[in-house]
Amino acid sequence: MMIPDQIQSLLLYLNDQGFQAYLVGGCVRDGLMHLIPHDWDVCTDALPQELQELFPDSLSYGIRHGTVTVKWQKQLIEVTTFRAESAYTDHRRPDHVSYIKDLSHDLSRRDFTVNAMAMDAAGVLHDPFGGLSDLETGTIRTVGSPESRFREDALRMLRAIRFSAQLNFSIEPNTKAGILSCASLTSALSAERVAQEIEKTLLTAHPERVSDMIAAGLLIPWIKNTIQDQPDKLRSLKRNRIHRWCGFGLLLHDAAFLNNLRLDRKTTKICSTCIHIQDQENRDTIFWKQAVHQYGLEAAMTSAEILSAWESTEDEQILQQILSNGECCTVSNLAVSGSDLKALGYQGKEIGSALNAALQYVWKYPEQNVRQSLLNYLREEFHHG
Ligand code: ATP
Ligand code: MG
Repeated sequence: MMIPDQIQSLLLYLNDQGFQAYLVGGCVRDGLMHLIPHDWDVCTDALPQELQELFPDSLSYGIRHGTVTVKWQKQLIEVTTFRAESAYTDHRRPDHVSYIKDLSHDLSRRDFTVNAMAMDAAGVLHDPFGGLSDLETGTIRTVGSPESRFREDALRMLRAIRFSAQLNFSIEPNTKAGILSCASLTSALSAERVAQEIEKTLLTAHPERVSDMIAAGLLIPWIKNTIQDQPDKLRSLKRNRIHRWCGFGLLLHDAAFLNNLRLDRKTTKICSTCIHIQDQENRDTIFWKQAVHQYGLEAAMTSAEILSAWESTEDEQILQQILSNGECCTVSNLAVSGSDLKALGYQGKEIGSALNAALQYVWKYPEQNVRQSLLNYLREEFHHG
């Protein structure tokens, strides 16, 4: 495994100052799999206060959890003091943490064997729980008894499935049994943390594994629906959060659960638009113009893209064609305006109905979106002007 020079020099600097220092967690796991780690986490026996003294321009927003973000050769690196966690009374976070001097003790509080390995500056691996062998066989296994680890922190059950999706690993049978027997403990978790694990899972190469979260009963407090479609279809969607959340909505044929998970309004709106449109038959040119008018261009366009991928339909092409032809979909693009009509003697509610009539007319006859043609048409329909 390659340790970048810059990171290695930080480890060596800490060693020179008399401290232990190791790379730990995700970066060791990913590095050993020849993947590029997205960040480099360091653990050390130096106390947070000692780190602040060694690195005066470090950031200390994580200091309560023993993490100091060190600026080292212009890069930000999270350095966390070895710690032990004791007594989780709420299945969410430890009651208090204490700083310790022993690496293996720190590794023992970590969730899975593949996340509980450390590497020193010389590239020597410290692996007291058999993480490397689990990495080689593609196994997610808790460090220690699954049940007690899941009772300590129920989020780990979602993380197990998330990592299985991210790494394409399978979950070791006892760990799986632990998930099934502790599933109801997720009700103590906040919607935001749950949503974050679901989202991370949806964005992996194996988004279909979210169905394992449902099957295990981990999402019952937020999602009541059952899966109605093929989870594998999620893989046909673009790998971005809106597309994948909408795909999850299509699987469940529901968007209301997104409110339970406190998702942003934009995602929730596009998801409900998608589900609503999926239920409509004969989605032709006029249908899509009306959809742009009803839902807005962004929601309609994203839905068309998602549904085309999901059901191999022409929706996306139909809408693309409308847009590249510059055909009118909304009142704001009509060749007549409300004030034009007012000047011609239209009043009150009549203005709205006339604009609506004009809109339906140009949806059908796009070449008629010309001021004079529309006024002629409306004169016949409404007898004004
Ligand atoms: P990635 O960042 O790629 O999602 P990661 O392994 O770095 O993966 P993080 O959530 O960033 O995951 O956590 C960093 C490390 O902290 C983990 O590798 C693991 O050792 C430990 N860890 C994180 N969350 C927990 C938890 N809930 N219980 C026990 N250990 C945890
Ligand atoms: Mg990480």
